[in-house]
Amino acid sequence: MIDPMSNSKRINNSMRPSPETVIRPEIMALQSYHVADATGMVKLDAMENPYRLPQAVLDQLSAVTITAEINRYPDPQALALKAMLRQSLQIPDQLEILLGNGSDEIIQMLIMAVAKPGAVVLGVEPAFVMFKMISVLCGARFVGVPLDTEFNLDLDVMLAVIEKESPQLIFIAYPNNPTGNLFDSERIERVIAAAPGLVVIDEAYQAFAEKTFMDRLLQYPNVVLMRTLSKSGLAGLRLGVLVGARAWISAIDKLRLPYNINVLTQLTAAKVLAHESLLAEQAALLRAERTQLYLALQTIAGVVVYQSAANFLLFRIADATTVFNRLKDQGVLIKDLNGSHKALVNCLRVTVGKPEENAQFIAALRASIY
Ligand code: PMP
Repeated sequence: MIDPMSNSKRINNSMRPSPETVIRPEIMALQSYHVADATGMVKLDAMENPYRLPQAVLDQLSAVTITAEINRYPDPQALALKAMLRQSLQIPDQLEILLGNGSDEIIQMLIMAVAKPGAVVLGVEPAFVMFKMISVLCGARFVGVPLDTEFNLDLDVMLAVIEKESPQLIFIAYPNNPTGNLFDSERIERVIAAAPGLVVIDEAYQAFAEKTFMDRLLQYPNVVLMRTLSKSGLAGLRLGVLVGARAWISAIDKLRLPYNINVLTQLTAAKVLAHESLLAEQAALLRAERTQLYLALQTIAGVVVYQSAANFLLFRIADATTVFNRLKDQGVLIKDLNGSHKALVNCLRVTVGKPEENAQFIAALRASIY
């Protein structure tokens, strides 16, 4: 008689497939991207826009979602939404647009596109962690060039590393996260000129910086520019935008999953962009609040706060992790960067919120220093 257990009996536990034996070791070694629980907190950790849209606009969004054909697949090209974006982001006619489920997904497409064995992705450090994390996920080698002591591009080192490593892809965020500053644009141009591959200018925080490489894009055949609607009020919709010459965009588009921008995002984002001035007004309020918050931080003894062109401020304080935890105990969630990089020892990052949220943060910070 056939014993139904005989096969499985022969497989002892050590031979059973497990994540350790099946999944790539570099993936097993990674820490997953951690998002702190913000329930009930003053949420100043993730560079979101704290303002909601006016009720009349929310009513319009609700009307488009009622008529949305969610039984159908979305437009794979999202043509109507792209037309709105072209207008509101002032994208030149000669350039093409690719959309992502957040700019995170675009970063993934870009790295997947170049990640042949031995491929190098170059970035700076400290920078947005996804550039490195997705490189590792895709099997590319990430090389991070330390910023100089003013958090600017260390041009000589950068050029030497470009020469040595010949990177397929270079990421430069303008402004940079988590430092908040705009790198010197002439240094960026030198990097573009020396790059043997594609340079990605990530302008996630452009609404707060009011500076852009968009108008210079036509000059540089090896540059694409990335934007996101996350920081200017639509983080929940997940919409990232890549702009560049047709040859680059159509090559990268081959990696895009066919229906990556869902029906509701396509309809509601287009509707919000029809009221684009509202987002611009909110960004202007946040820029003014950033100045107030900067000045308030400067008045606190022991705090060193850095200039920022984004909607967050980086600051240094003794015992940062203790201070971070004390803020959390008082219901204020910011980001602890202490321990994430040697240039960020005792650094915390706070997103600019509404005036009352910023005041709560400042009061809690004062109460946390003793
Ligand atoms: N680029 C930079 C520099 C960022 O800081 C972030 C988010 N923190 C992103 C891209 C990703 O944004 P999203 O996926 O929400 O578009």
